[in-house]
Amino acid sequence: AKAQGRNNYRFFTERMTAEVRQRLLMENRLRGALARQELHLMLQPKFWVADRRLSGFEALLRWTDCDGVATSPAEFIPVAEESGLIIEIGSWVLRQACQLAAAWPAPASGPALTMAVNVSPRQLAQPGFAELVASILRDTGLAAAQLEIEVTESALLERTGNVKAALDGLKALGVRLAVDDFGTGYSSLAYLKDFAPDTVKIDRCFVTDLQNRHDNAAIVLAIITLAKSLKMEALAEGVETEEELAALAQLGCEAVQGYLTGRPLALDSAAGLVAATARP
Ligand code: C2E
Ligand code: CA
Ligand code: CA
Ligand code: CA
Repeated sequence: AKAQGRNNYRFFTERMTAEVRQRLLMENRLRGALARQELHLMLQPKFWVADRRLSGFEALLRWTDCDGVATSPAEFIPVAEESGLIIEIGSWVLRQACQLAAAWPAPASGPALTMAVNVSPRQLAQPGFAELVASILRDTGLAAAQLEIEVTESALLERTGNVKAALDGLKALGVRLAVDDFGTGYSSLAYLKDFAPDTVKIDRCFVTDLQNRHDNAAIVLAIITLAKSLKMEALAEGVETEEELAALAQLGCEAVQGYLTGRPLALDSAAGLVAATARP
């Protein structure tokens, strides 16, 4: 039994070492990618349901190395967060996204387009985050109301003093706030009340097959009703079919994003879409 215990222990440490090695390898590759400027953004369009007009874009980070190998953000963002690299990467994303949005012509009618940027918990907790955003807005000339910061519910759980200060600071600037992946985290409705986002992004797991699934329809209706009564905009993510879109329209969802209405676009394609909606 003793020998076996020792074997298990060795197996465990070997596996741990492999995981740590993997992580360090990824961290080093990511550091190099940052230096070699292998990171870039793609923009996924968001649309108003009522008139199907473009409402703006979400900036999504992409990493393609010099050999053309792409790594998913779902894989490298956690490594960036753990290593602290997210601070540098995150401010690059913010600056780049604001620069792009500042160059957009105004739409022919309706409200200005918004640029949504994902911000990780670690960035929000970094002292001076709101000041960083303020200086990026100043440098790029983007109107604060055109920037929307997306935060997941898990980030709101860690409400340290810094996170609170960052959220208050962003509000004071007039930057929009969105709660991402709503309904999948561990937060309670009290957080929603406290955080008071401008937009609630309904997670795509509730959107899937909405027209056939009573449970999903009930949850989505509850979220939309709640958002409306709190004067928040409800946006459904991951809309993939016409049937889902029709069901969302029926339930009163204001905005949508997903493969049906538009996949993440390369920058030139996104600029083309903006130009097509601009005042002639
Ligand atoms: P997210 O914020 O929930 O972003 C939406 C993800 O869903 C994107 O994946 C997008 O490509 C994908 N998606 C969009 N429409 C559909 C659809 O109709 N069906 C399906 N199945 N998927 C759809 P992506 O680009 O791989 O990003 C994954 C996650 O990585 C993001 O989830 C976000 O949490 C994180 N991320 C991406 N860019 C950044 C960034 O700049 N900073 C931070 N902190 N996180 C980022
Ligand atoms: Ca997001
Ligand atoms: Ca999301
Ligand atoms: Ca997500």
